[in-house]
Amino acid sequence: MSAGEMVGKRVAVEDGLCERHGPFASRVIAPGVVLGCPACLEEVRREQAAFAARARVENRYLDAGLPLGVQDVGLDNFKCAVREQRAAVAHARGFVECYRAGRNLILSGPAEGKTHLLVAVTKHIAARGAMVRYLNAADLLMAMTEVGYGRQSESAVLHCFVGPSLLVVDHVGDVHWTRYLRTLFLRVIDARCSAGLATAIASHTDVARLQDDIGERTLRRLWAHGNELVTLNQKIHRSGTALRSTAEFDRYLNPSKE
Ligand SMILES: [Zn+2]
Repeated sequence: MSAGEMVGKRVAVEDGLCERHGPFASRVIAPGVVLGCPACLEEVRREQAAFAARARVENRYLDAGLPLGVQDVGLDNFKCAVREQRAAVAHARGFVECYRAGRNLILSGPAEGKTHLLVAVTKHIAARGAMVRYLNAADLLMAMTEVGYGRQSESAVLHCFVGPSLLVVDHVGDVHWTRYLRTLFLRVIDARCSAGLATAIASHTDVARLQDDIGERTLRRLWAHGNELVTLNQKIHRSGTALRSTAEFDRYLNPSKE
């Protein structure tokens, strides 16, 4: 086809043959410029769109503070060896659906899977585009103690932990909580609860030790009516099912009063 033939007939058509899709009508968009197989082009377009969508979600995970290599962590592949773990994954699912109502999630106990659940919850909510902050208690406390070195004002630090729609604090029992840190954390939790923003925490310790670590007021604030405290204990006889009310919380912490 000559350039003359192109004039007045903007798009010409040639017979093409794709190795994979067979014969096709090849569009000539300019002299010497022939489009390839439309089925192949569509495949490339879809791959690029899927890649961009994956990259968008991966970026949201990174923005949320999730470590790399959590692609395979989800609620569907949580291994439930004991009854408490089945209860915990059910609670995590419920939390994903209702965190906007300011519900909090507290996971405690020595059984494995708390980090898995927190990461899965963070991924679910971050993937929807919500602002989520996931971090270990050690990093939270580090950020708070840096206030003392004048790097950021205390209000700026508090703002950074009060701002996200969901704050996730893992490994709460692995750090040394001083009175000062306990007070700062209470201010964060107070502000978040007042604003109706959800928080999820996990500690390998039992509830009594968790209370010693973060302070009773903070734990009570997190565990207001309607929130869930899930214990993951290998020893089923110790606590068992999720505790749901403040009255139960009191009994749990003060068994002698029963
Ligand atoms: Zn093709």
